[in-house]
Amino acid sequence: NQEFFQRAGKALEREEKMFVVTANPETLMMAEQTPEFGDVLRSPEAIIVPDGIGVLKAAAYLGMDTNGRVTGCDLVAYLIKEAGNLHKSIYLYGAKEEVVAALVTKIKAEQPGAVIAGYRNGYGQDDNEVFDEIALLQPDIVFVALGIPRQELIIHRNLSRFQKGIFVGVGGSFDVLSGMKKRESKSETFRTAPFEYEFLYAPLGDSGAYAYLEPWYGFSVSKDSDEAELAVEFLRFMSTRLDEMAGIKGLPSVAADSADKRYAGIRHTDAA
Ligand code: UDP
Repeated sequence: NQEFFQRAGKALEREEKMFVVTANPETLMMAEQTPEFGDVLRSPEAIIVPDGIGVLKAAAYLGMDTNGRVTGCDLVAYLIKEAGNLHKSIYLYGAKEEVVAALVTKIKAEQPGAVIAGYRNGYGQDDNEVFDEIALLQPDIVFVALGIPRQELIIHRNLSRFQKGIFVGVGGSFDVLSGMKKRESKSETFRTAPFEYEFLYAPLGDSGAYAYLEPWYGFSVSKDSDEAELAVEFLRFMSTRLDEMAGIKGLPSVAADSADKRYAGIRHTDAA
């Protein structure tokens, strides 16, 4: 991925035009469901970089050479740093007002060489109007944080209005880089005290086993607890990754009347 970062850095330095899509498995699935998005991914302008182990594995399976993972967050962080070194301008579009404003403040403090061409939050805006503004400014870097596929679709639709610029659909990267949201696996707490977890199998009784219709969790953390940070970390992990893993491992986490074959053995049956 260093190689890709360098390529993006060179494009920035030479004022080339570049459109980067960081693709995780959901991105690729989305392309199946939204034909217009599939067209964007297949368009020659779009450079697709693998974000996530799933895409790397799929690529390896197909015999494709990939050079490691490129996450949206890492790419955005790298480009901000390069903008600072090369005195380039950045436009940020998307995320909540407090998030994007916090990130702008952080960029100004940490990379005084970078120029903030402008920014707008991603709520209640007219995408076309925002892009009219961006096209007038012709910034060197345009980050669009509106979620997949909206961010890629609007970049692609407007790309021909620009002579130069590195365009990246960055998903939730502003939330992470602004410090408003943490990546659980990268946070200090997780690194210094990673927690262990195990899956508990719901015991199968005469009438079947219970599976949750809506997986939910709820616990409270005392703000004075010594382990408050770790508990919050765990909560974050639960809400983002655990259900996903349960799905991969085929553990019961869906409705008892799910059509999914994997749950056939635990389905509640009213003996007729
Ligand atoms: N967002 C936005 N406007 C919207 C919907 C979403 O600005 O109408 C922002 C949201 O605040 C977040 C980002 O888009 O910063 C989407 O992040 P998410 O992680 O959901 O995106 P993904 O990468 O999963 O598509």
